[in-house]
Amino acid sequence: MNGPWFVRAVGDGDTHRAETEHWTTDGRAHIRPICDATTLFTALNRRPVAVPYYDDHRCPDCLAATRKPTASRRRRLAVVR
Ligand SMILES: [Zn+2]
Repeated sequence: MNGPWFVRAVGDGDTHRAETEHWTTDGRAHIRPICDATTLFTALNRRPVAVPYYDDHRCPDCLAATRKPTASRRRRLAVVR
């Protein structure tokens, strides 16, 4: 999954990827992050961020969760002789 990032707080590790996004009519995003879908926060950014400017801002748990290969992405290799 390569979804956008949403800022909960300016600081290291507090920019998350969304498990779910809910946009209000005034343009605010309510986000349940991948790292903890039981919490809800209102993103500081009003536009999703494809790549955070500083690597340190990315939540390490969201980053790890989105790097795991899924069954559909996993390549299967075969040896043919
Ligand atoms: Zn996170």
